[in-house]
Amino acid sequence: MVRNFLFHRVNPERDKLWDPMDVALFERCIQYISKKYTVVLIEDIAFSDERFTKNKYATIMFDDGYKDNIQYAAPILKKYNCKASFYVVTDCIDNNIPTWTHVLDYSFQHTNVSEIDLSFDFLPDEFKVNNIPTAEKRIAYGSRLKPYLKKITHEKRGLVLDQIARSYNDIKVPELMMNWDDIKELSAAGHYIGSHTVTHCMLGTMSDETEIKHELLNSANRIQEKLGYFPLTISYPIGSYNDTTKRLSKELGYKIGLAVNQNIYDPAIEDLFEISRIELYNEPWWKTRLRISNALENIKSLIKYK
Ligand SMILES: [Zn+2]
Repeated sequence: MVRNFLFHRVNPERDKLWDPMDVALFERCIQYISKKYTVVLIEDIAFSDERFTKNKYATIMFDDGYKDNIQYAAPILKKYNCKASFYVVTDCIDNNIPTWTHVLDYSFQHTNVSEIDLSFDFLPDEFKVNNIPTAEKRIAYGSRLKPYLKKITHEKRGLVLDQIARSYNDIKVPELMMNWDDIKELSAAGHYIGSHTVTHCMLGTMSDETEIKHELLNSANRIQEKLGYFPLTISYPIGSYNDTTKRLSKELGYKIGLAVNQNIYDPAIEDLFEISRIELYNEPWWKTRLRISNALENIKSLIKYK
């Protein structure tokens, strides 16, 4: 059994819409995890029988490739002698632009433009607008829109995102990503670098196989170009995948596919292309500790509270 712990941003600065994990909480997590489990890389144990050892192993993973990973998280990993895996979105790294979910949050939070024509036929009435007059209303709208956008097809999502980018043209998105030198430094320190696609697309919502292949292959090729190896691992953005995703990932040369479903990875029942991960958030320590021991999800399913 392997507990795969997933982190994103680790930062002392707070964010109203998508709060990074606080640095002190991150340190507490790593201290606790490294004391309780043997911390390994999934890339080192995925193919060995060691992964079957009961309740002993943990991995530390980061999705997206934020600069704060090397700034704040890496020194703490070093302090506790832990190696981690970092799954990067290659277009975000190449252009120093955060993922579309982050840009979406940021746009609604920072634009001063009130006119926006979101009148697409496919949008439910509650999302059809042509003007959102105040900052407060834009933030509220953005936080309702994001979960909806995660459920629709890739094509429809693209139309909405393009329209938002065109309308909120007063936004300059913040430069928050690592560059390839940062990534090389992590790799040289013994951490693993894998793929998180080219554009952070939701693979399980895409139907065009050429487009899926582009996301899977071009991100891997870019990593190969920069680091000299074809990555073993694809981490599916927003945990979105289906049978086509798994098949194409395998065909194109990946060996491991990472999901996000808040469970301990049990090699006896999960295949290598849907490995479970437990995401940790910026929450009070007691909640985080329960997530680490995986008790919070069990309690939730028992009392059906969500
Ligand atoms: Zn991601």
